[in-house]
Amino acid sequence: MEEKIRKKHVAILGSTGSIGTQALEVIAAHRDLFEVEVLTAGSNAKLLIEQALRFKPNTVVIGQEALYDEVNTALEGAMIKVYAGEPALASVVEMETIDVVLTALVGYAGLLPTIKAIEAGKQIALANKETLVVAGDLITALAKEKGVNINPVDSEHSAIFQCLVGEFHNPIEKIILTASGGPFRGKNRNDLASVTKADALKHPNWEMGAKITIDSASMMNKGLEVIEAKWLFDLKSEQIEVIVHPQSIVHSLVQFEDGSIKAQLGLPDMRLPIQFALGYPERLPSDFERFNFMDYPNLTFEQPDLKTFRNLALAYEAMDQGGNIPCILNAANEIAVEAFLQEKIGFLNISDIVETCMQKSSFIAKPTLQDYVETNKITRIKAQELIK
Ligand code: NDP
Ligand code: MG
Repeated sequence: MEEKIRKKHVAILGSTGSIGTQALEVIAAHRDLFEVEVLTAGSNAKLLIEQALRFKPNTVVIGQEALYDEVNTALEGAMIKVYAGEPALASVVEMETIDVVLTALVGYAGLLPTIKAIEAGKQIALANKETLVVAGDLITALAKEKGVNINPVDSEHSAIFQCLVGEFHNPIEKIILTASGGPFRGKNRNDLASVTKADALKHPNWEMGAKITIDSASMMNKGLEVIEAKWLFDLKSEQIEVIVHPQSIVHSLVQFEDGSIKAQLGLPDMRLPIQFALGYPERLPSDFERFNFMDYPNLTFEQPDLKTFRNLALAYEAMDQGGNIPCILNAANEIAVEAFLQEKIGFLNISDIVETCMQKSSFIAKPTLQDYVETNKITRIKAQELIK
Protein backbone atom coordinates (compact mmCIF):
# COMPACT_ATOMS: atom_id res chain seq x y z
CA MET A 1 0.00 0.00 0.00
CA GLU A 2 1.28 3.42 -0.85
CA GLU A 3 2.08 5.43 2.23
CA LYS A 4 1.17 9.07 2.10
CA ILE A 5 3.99 11.36 3.30
CA ARG A 6 2.80 13.82 5.89
CA LYS A 7 3.55 17.32 4.71
CA LYS A 8 5.51 19.68 6.92
CA HIS A 9 3.34 22.60 7.93
CA VAL A 10 5.38 25.78 7.82
CA ALA A 11 4.91 29.20 9.43
CA ILE A 12 6.94 31.95 7.76
CA LEU A 13 7.55 34.99 9.93
CA GLY A 14 8.50 37.78 7.53
CA SER A 15 7.14 36.18 4.36
CA THR A 16 7.30 39.42 2.35
CA GLY A 17 11.06 39.88 2.82
CA SER A 18 14.04 38.61 0.88
CA ILE A 19 14.26 35.31 2.80
CA GLY A 20 10.47 34.98 3.09
CA THR A 21 9.79 35.30 -0.63
CA GLN A 22 12.59 32.86 -1.48
CA ALA A 23 11.20 30.40 1.06
CA LEU A 24 7.87 30.57 -0.74
CA GLU A 25 9.66 29.79 -4.01
CA VAL A 26 11.15 26.70 -2.37
CA ILE A 27 7.74 25.66 -1.05
CA ALA A 28 6.08 26.30 -4.43
CA ALA A 29 8.57 23.85 -5.99
CA HIS A 30 7.75 21.20 -3.34
CA ARG A 31 4.02 21.47 -2.79
CA ASP A 32 3.93 17.73 -2.12
CA LEU A 33 6.19 18.17 0.94
CA PHE A 34 5.22 21.50 2.46
CA GLU A 35 2.02 23.26 3.42
CA VAL A 36 1.99 26.95 4.31
CA GLU A 37 0.24 27.38 7.63
CA VAL A 38 1.03 30.98 8.59
CA LEU A 39 2.37 34.03 6.75
CA THR A 40 3.31 37.31 8.40
CA ALA A 41 4.48 40.74 7.25
CA GLY A 42 5.27 44.06 8.87
CA SER A 43 3.63 46.60 6.57
CA ASN A 44 3.58 45.17 3.04
CA ALA A 45 -0.14 44.35 3.03
CA LYS A 46 -0.35 44.10 -0.76
CA LEU A 47 2.24 41.34 -1.07
CA LEU A 48 0.95 39.53 2.02
CA ILE A 49 -2.54 39.40 0.48
CA GLU A 50 -1.14 38.16 -2.83
CA GLN A 51 0.87 35.43 -1.06
CA ALA A 52 -2.12 34.41 1.06
CA LEU A 53 -4.40 34.05 -1.96
CA ARG A 54 -1.77 31.91 -3.68
CA PHE A 55 -0.62 29.70 -0.79
CA LYS A 56 -3.89 29.56 1.21
CA PRO A 57 -2.45 29.58 4.73
CA ASN A 58 -4.64 29.00 7.75
CA THR A 59 -3.67 32.38 9.24
CA VAL A 60 -1.90 35.62 8.33
CA VAL A 61 -0.61 38.38 10.60
CA ILE A 62 0.10 41.94 9.55
CA GLY A 63 2.38 43.77 11.99
CA GLN A 64 0.93 47.24 11.51
CA GLU A 65 -2.48 47.29 13.11
CA ALA A 66 -3.73 50.10 10.88
CA LEU A 67 -3.52 47.69 7.92
CA TYR A 68 -5.76 45.04 9.47
CA ASP A 69 -8.93 46.13 7.64
CA GLU A 70 -7.24 46.15 4.25
CA VAL A 71 -5.91 42.61 4.71
CA ASN A 72 -9.06 41.27 6.32
CA THR A 73 -11.34 42.63 3.59
CA ALA A 74 -9.14 41.20 0.84
CA LEU A 75 -9.08 37.74 2.43
CA GLU A 76 -12.70 37.60 3.59
CA GLY A 77 -13.88 35.09 1.02
CA ALA A 78 -10.75 32.92 1.31
CA MET A 79 -11.40 31.42 4.78
CA ILE A 80 -8.05 32.75 6.05
CA LYS A 81 -7.84 34.10 9.60
CA VAL A 82 -6.32 37.56 9.87
CA TYR A 83 -4.66 39.11 12.91
CA ALA A 84 -2.65 42.28 13.44
CA GLY A 85 -0.05 43.61 15.83
CA GLU A 86 3.05 42.43 17.64
CA PRO A 87 1.34 40.23 20.27
CA ALA A 88 -0.42 38.30 17.47
CA LEU A 89 2.94 37.72 15.82
CA ALA A 90 4.28 36.12 18.98
CA SER A 91 1.22 33.99 19.72
CA VAL A 92 0.43 32.72 16.22
CA VAL A 93 3.49 30.43 16.30
CA GLU A 94 1.85 28.39 19.06
CA MET A 95 -0.82 27.03 16.68
CA GLU A 96 -1.02 23.28 17.01
CA THR A 97 -0.96 22.67 13.26
CA ILE A 98 2.51 24.20 12.78
CA ASP A 99 5.54 21.86 12.53
CA VAL A 100 8.29 24.31 11.66
CA VAL A 101 8.69 28.06 12.05
CA LEU A 102 10.95 29.93 9.63
CA THR A 103 12.09 33.08 11.43
CA ALA A 104 12.76 35.57 8.64
CA LEU A 105 11.92 38.75 10.50
CA VAL A 106 14.60 41.34 10.67
CA GLY A 107 16.24 42.41 13.92
CA TYR A 108 15.23 42.22 17.57
CA ALA A 109 11.55 41.84 16.56
CA GLY A 110 12.30 38.14 15.98
CA LEU A 111 13.21 37.40 19.59
CA LEU A 112 9.84 36.95 21.28
CA PRO A 113 8.15 34.99 18.46
CA THR A 114 11.17 32.66 18.37
CA ILE A 115 10.97 32.05 22.11
CA LYS A 116 7.23 31.37 21.88
CA ALA A 117 7.76 28.96 18.99
CA ILE A 118 10.42 27.01 20.89
CA GLU A 119 8.29 26.94 24.02
CA ALA A 120 5.51 25.44 21.91
CA GLY A 121 7.95 22.75 20.72
CA LYS A 122 8.12 23.90 17.08
CA GLN A 123 11.20 23.15 15.01
CA ILE A 124 13.00 26.32 13.99
CA ALA A 125 14.54 27.26 10.66
CA LEU A 126 16.48 30.31 11.79
CA ALA A 127 17.31 33.18 9.46
CA ASN A 128 16.86 35.91 12.08
CA LYS A 129 20.42 35.83 13.44
CA GLU A 130 19.79 38.83 15.71
CA THR A 131 17.75 36.54 17.99
CA LEU A 132 20.82 34.42 18.77
CA VAL A 133 23.05 37.48 19.09
CA VAL A 134 20.73 39.06 21.65
CA ALA A 135 19.87 36.03 23.76
CA GLY A 136 21.77 33.01 22.47
CA ASP A 137 22.16 31.52 25.95
CA LEU A 138 18.42 31.59 26.68
CA ILE A 139 17.42 30.40 23.22
CA THR A 140 19.82 27.45 23.08
CA ALA A 141 19.00 26.36 26.65
CA LEU A 142 15.28 26.53 25.91
CA ALA A 143 15.68 24.62 22.66
CA LYS A 144 17.59 21.89 24.48
CA GLU A 145 14.96 21.66 27.19
CA LYS A 146 12.14 21.42 24.64
CA GLY A 147 13.98 19.04 22.29
CA VAL A 148 13.74 21.57 19.47
CA ASN A 149 16.23 21.68 16.59
CA ILE A 150 17.40 25.03 15.34
CA ASN A 151 18.35 24.58 11.69
CA PRO A 152 20.39 27.51 10.40
CA VAL A 153 19.30 29.34 7.25
CA ASP A 154 22.21 31.78 7.17
CA SER A 155 24.38 30.47 4.30
CA GLU A 156 27.63 30.23 6.34
CA HIS A 157 25.95 28.39 9.19
CA SER A 158 24.06 26.17 6.81
CA ALA A 159 27.42 25.31 5.21
CA ILE A 160 28.82 24.31 8.59
CA PHE A 161 25.67 22.39 9.45
CA GLN A 162 25.91 20.55 6.12
CA CYS A 163 29.57 19.70 6.85
CA LEU A 164 28.60 18.37 10.28
CA VAL A 165 25.93 15.96 9.11
CA GLY A 166 27.27 12.52 10.00
CA GLU A 167 29.93 14.12 12.23
CA PHE A 168 27.87 15.48 15.12
CA HIS A 169 29.75 13.21 17.56
CA ASN A 170 33.17 14.47 16.38
CA PRO A 171 34.57 17.52 18.19
CA ILE A 172 35.14 20.63 16.09
CA GLU A 173 38.65 22.09 16.25
CA LYS A 174 37.56 25.33 14.63
CA ILE A 175 35.25 26.78 12.04
CA ILE A 176 36.10 29.30 9.33
CA LEU A 177 33.33 31.66 8.32
CA THR A 178 33.75 33.15 4.88
CA ALA A 179 32.86 36.79 4.21
CA SER A 180 32.49 38.39 0.79
CA GLY A 181 33.99 41.61 2.13
CA GLY A 182 31.01 43.54 0.75
CA PRO A 183 31.10 46.55 -1.56
CA PHE A 184 33.87 48.30 0.42
CA ARG A 185 36.47 45.53 0.49
CA GLY A 186 39.96 47.00 0.10
CA LYS A 187 38.92 50.50 1.15
CA ASN A 188 40.42 52.37 4.11
CA ARG A 189 38.76 54.53 6.75
CA ASN A 190 39.36 57.68 4.74
CA ASP A 191 37.47 56.22 1.79
CA LEU A 192 34.66 55.05 4.05
CA ALA A 193 34.11 58.48 5.58
CA SER A 194 32.33 59.67 2.45
CA VAL A 195 30.47 56.58 1.18
CA THR A 196 26.74 56.98 0.62
CA LYS A 197 23.69 54.86 1.35
CA ALA A 198 23.46 53.97 -2.35
CA ASP A 199 27.11 52.78 -2.35
CA ALA A 200 26.51 50.66 0.75
CA LEU A 201 23.35 49.07 -0.67
CA LYS A 202 25.26 47.66 -3.69
CA HIS A 203 26.26 44.22 -2.48
CA PRO A 204 28.47 42.42 -5.00
CA ASN A 205 27.07 38.88 -4.57
CA TRP A 206 23.75 38.79 -2.67
CA GLU A 207 20.32 40.46 -3.04
CA MET A 208 19.07 40.96 0.51
CA GLY A 209 16.96 43.20 2.72
CA ALA A 210 18.31 46.70 3.43
CA LYS A 211 19.42 46.11 7.04
CA ILE A 212 21.56 43.04 6.34
CA THR A 213 22.98 44.69 3.22
CA ILE A 214 24.29 47.61 5.30
CA ASP A 215 25.52 45.12 7.93
CA SER A 216 27.42 43.32 5.16
CA ALA A 217 29.04 46.55 3.97
CA SER A 218 30.12 47.40 7.53
CA MET A 219 31.17 43.79 8.35
CA MET A 220 28.73 43.86 11.28
CA ASN A 221 26.93 41.03 9.52
CA LYS A 222 30.02 38.85 9.91
CA GLY A 223 30.31 39.94 13.53
CA LEU A 224 26.71 38.93 14.19
CA GLU A 225 27.42 35.64 12.41
CA VAL A 226 30.43 34.94 14.63
CA ILE A 227 28.17 35.22 17.68
CA GLU A 228 25.43 33.24 15.92
CA ALA A 229 27.97 30.45 15.27
CA LYS A 230 29.10 30.39 18.88
CA TRP A 231 25.58 29.53 20.01
CA LEU A 232 24.57 27.24 17.15
CA PHE A 233 27.68 25.07 17.36
CA ASP A 234 28.67 25.60 21.02
CA LEU A 235 32.09 27.12 20.26
CA LYS A 236 34.60 29.28 22.06
CA SER A 237 35.74 32.57 20.60
CA GLU A 238 39.15 31.20 19.58
CA GLN A 239 37.45 28.44 17.58
CA ILE A 240 35.76 30.91 15.23
CA GLU A 241 37.78 32.45 12.39
CA VAL A 242 36.72 34.78 9.64
CA ILE A 243 38.30 34.86 6.21
CA VAL A 244 37.41 37.12 3.32
CA HIS A 245 36.47 35.22 0.16
CA PRO A 246 35.17 37.72 -2.42
CA GLN A 247 33.60 35.16 -4.79
CA SER A 248 31.17 33.77 -2.14
CA ILE A 249 31.48 30.22 -3.49
CA VAL A 250 32.96 28.49 -0.44
CA HIS A 251 30.16 29.17 2.04
CA SER A 252 32.18 28.21 5.16
CA LEU A 253 34.41 25.44 6.53
CA VAL A 254 34.85 23.16 9.53
CA GLN A 255 38.19 21.83 10.75
CA PHE A 256 38.11 18.65 12.81
CA GLU A 257 40.59 17.40 15.40
CA ASP A 258 42.55 15.36 12.84
CA GLY A 259 43.21 18.55 10.86
CA SER A 260 40.79 17.65 8.08
CA ILE A 261 38.77 20.55 6.70
CA LYS A 262 35.31 20.18 5.15
CA ALA A 263 33.70 22.94 3.17
CA GLN A 264 30.39 23.43 1.40
CA LEU A 265 30.43 25.12 -2.00
CA GLY A 266 27.91 26.45 -4.45
CA LEU A 267 26.75 29.57 -6.26
CA PRO A 268 25.40 32.24 -3.92
CA ASP A 269 21.67 31.43 -3.80
CA MET A 270 19.79 31.61 -0.49
CA ARG A 271 17.13 29.20 -1.71
CA LEU A 272 19.58 26.33 -1.13
CA PRO A 273 20.17 26.91 2.60
CA ILE A 274 16.47 27.72 3.07
CA GLN A 275 15.52 24.44 1.39
CA PHE A 276 18.11 22.49 3.40
CA ALA A 277 16.79 23.93 6.68
CA LEU A 278 13.17 23.15 5.78
CA GLY A 279 13.83 19.75 4.23
CA TYR A 280 16.39 18.45 6.76
CA PRO A 281 17.32 15.63 7.13
CA GLU A 282 16.45 15.10 3.44
CA ARG A 283 18.25 16.79 0.57
CA LEU A 284 15.53 17.76 -1.86
CA PRO A 285 16.09 18.09 -5.59
CA SER A 286 16.35 21.58 -7.08
CA ASP A 287 16.77 23.26 -10.42
CA PHE A 288 19.01 26.01 -9.00
CA GLU A 289 21.87 26.96 -11.27
CA ARG A 290 24.87 24.63 -10.83
CA PHE A 291 28.39 25.75 -9.99
CA ASN A 292 31.08 25.25 -12.61
CA PHE A 293 34.76 25.46 -11.57
CA MET A 294 35.71 26.69 -15.05
CA ASP A 295 33.68 29.87 -14.46
CA TYR A 296 35.74 30.53 -11.31
CA PRO A 297 39.38 29.65 -12.02
CA ASN A 298 40.44 31.83 -9.08
CA LEU A 299 38.86 31.36 -5.70
CA THR A 300 40.73 33.77 -3.44
CA PHE A 301 41.05 34.30 0.31
CA GLU A 302 42.38 37.18 2.41
CA GLN A 303 42.52 38.41 6.01
CA PRO A 304 39.68 40.66 7.16
CA ASP A 305 40.75 44.24 7.85
CA LEU A 306 39.67 44.78 11.46
CA LYS A 307 41.07 48.31 11.62
CA THR A 308 38.91 49.60 8.81
CA PHE A 309 35.92 47.44 9.67
CA ARG A 310 35.71 48.08 13.42
CA ASN A 311 32.37 46.29 13.76
CA LEU A 312 33.88 42.86 13.36
CA ALA A 313 36.36 43.53 16.17
CA LEU A 314 33.55 44.97 18.31
CA ALA A 315 31.46 41.84 17.81
CA TYR A 316 34.34 39.62 18.98
CA GLU A 317 34.75 41.91 21.99
CA ALA A 318 31.04 41.74 22.78
CA MET A 319 31.08 37.95 22.48
CA ASP A 320 34.09 37.68 24.80
CA GLN A 321 32.52 39.99 27.39
CA GLY A 322 29.28 38.02 27.17
CA GLY A 323 26.24 38.74 29.33
CA ASN A 324 24.10 41.54 27.91
CA ILE A 325 26.90 43.10 25.83
CA PRO A 326 26.00 41.37 22.53
CA CYS A 327 22.42 42.57 23.09
CA ILE A 328 23.80 46.13 23.41
CA LEU A 329 25.91 45.70 20.27
CA ASN A 330 22.85 44.56 18.37
CA ALA A 331 20.45 47.25 19.62
CA ALA A 332 22.95 50.06 18.99
CA ASN A 333 23.66 48.69 15.53
CA GLU A 334 19.96 48.47 14.62
CA ILE A 335 19.43 52.11 15.54
CA ALA A 336 22.63 53.22 13.81
CA VAL A 337 21.81 51.33 10.59
CA GLU A 338 18.32 52.82 10.54
CA ALA A 339 19.82 56.30 10.95
CA PHE A 340 22.36 55.61 8.18
CA LEU A 341 19.52 54.45 5.89
CA GLN A 342 17.70 57.70 6.69
CA GLU A 343 20.92 59.54 5.83
CA LYS A 344 21.14 61.08 9.31
CA ILE A 345 24.65 59.77 10.03
CA GLY A 346 27.73 58.79 8.06
CA PHE A 347 28.92 55.24 7.49
CA LEU A 348 31.74 55.36 10.06
CA ASN A 349 29.35 56.68 12.71
CA ILE A 350 27.73 53.23 12.80
CA SER A 351 30.65 51.62 14.61
CA ASP A 352 31.23 54.77 16.72
CA ILE A 353 27.68 54.54 18.06
CA VAL A 354 27.99 50.80 18.71
CA GLU A 355 31.29 51.26 20.53
CA THR A 356 30.04 54.15 22.68
CA CYS A 357 26.93 52.20 23.69
CA MET A 358 29.06 49.18 24.60
CA GLN A 359 31.36 51.31 26.75
CA LYS A 360 28.56 53.14 28.53
CA SER A 361 26.58 50.03 29.35
CA SER A 362 25.77 48.50 32.68
CA PHE A 363 27.01 44.95 32.52
CA ILE A 364 24.74 42.07 33.48
CA ALA A 365 26.61 38.76 33.56
CA LYS A 366 23.63 36.38 33.52
CA PRO A 367 20.70 38.27 32.06
CA THR A 368 17.11 37.06 32.29
CA LEU A 369 14.73 37.62 29.39
CA GLN A 370 13.47 40.73 31.19
CA ASP A 371 17.06 42.00 31.44
CA TYR A 372 17.47 41.57 27.69
CA VAL A 373 14.20 43.39 27.01
CA GLU A 374 15.34 46.27 29.25
CA THR A 375 18.89 46.35 27.85
CA ASN A 376 17.51 46.51 24.31
CA LYS A 377 15.13 49.33 25.24
CA ILE A 378 17.71 51.43 27.11
CA THR A 379 20.39 50.95 24.45
CA ARG A 380 18.05 52.10 21.71
CA ILE A 381 17.34 55.29 23.63
CA LYS A 382 21.08 55.87 24.23
CA ALA A 383 21.89 55.27 20.58
CA GLN A 384 19.13 57.66 19.48
CA GLU A 385 20.60 60.35 21.74
CA LEU A 386 23.98 59.90 20.05
CA ILE A 387 22.37 60.51 16.66
CA LYS A 388 20.62 63.77 17.51
P1 NDP B 1 13.81 41.89 4.71
O1 NDP B 1 13.91 43.28 5.21
O2 NDP B 1 13.88 41.64 3.26
O3 NDP B 1 12.45 41.23 5.25
C1 NDP B 1 12.06 41.31 6.58
C2 NDP B 1 10.68 40.70 6.77
O4 NDP B 1 10.26 40.89 8.13
C3 NDP B 1 9.60 41.32 5.92
O5 NDP B 1 8.59 40.37 5.70
C4 NDP B 1 9.07 42.44 6.83
O6 NDP B 1 7.76 42.83 6.52
C5 NDP B 1 9.12 41.74 8.17
N1 NDP B 1 9.32 42.63 9.30
C6 NDP B 1 10.35 43.48 9.47
N2 NDP B 1 10.24 44.11 10.64
C7 NDP B 1 9.13 43.65 11.23
C8 NDP B 1 8.46 43.95 12.45
N3 NDP B 1 8.94 44.83 13.33
N4 NDP B 1 7.32 43.28 12.74
C9 NDP B 1 6.82 42.39 11.85
N5 NDP B 1 7.40 42.09 10.69
C10 NDP B 1 8.52 42.72 10.38
O7 NDP B 1 14.93 41.06 5.47
P2 NDP B 1 15.73 39.77 4.97
O8 NDP B 1 14.79 38.77 4.41
O9 NDP B 1 16.89 40.20 4.18
O10 NDP B 1 16.32 39.23 6.35
C11 NDP B 1 15.51 38.54 7.32
C12 NDP B 1 16.44 37.93 8.36
O11 NDP B 1 17.22 36.92 7.74
C13 NDP B 1 17.42 38.93 8.98
O12 NDP B 1 17.62 38.61 10.33
C14 NDP B 1 18.70 38.70 8.20
O13 NDP B 1 19.85 39.00 8.94
C15 NDP B 1 18.60 37.20 7.92
N6 NDP B 1 19.34 36.76 6.72
C16 NDP B 1 19.00 37.23 5.50
C17 NDP B 1 19.69 36.85 4.36
C18 NDP B 1 19.27 37.31 3.01
O14 NDP B 1 19.83 36.84 2.01
N7 NDP B 1 18.32 38.21 2.87
C19 NDP B 1 20.84 35.94 4.45
C20 NDP B 1 21.09 35.45 5.78
C21 NDP B 1 20.37 35.86 6.87
P3 NDP B 1 7.47 44.00 5.40
O15 NDP B 1 7.91 43.44 4.09
O16 NDP B 1 6.01 44.18 5.49
O17 NDP B 1 8.27 45.18 5.85
MG1 MG C 1 25.35 34.99 6.09
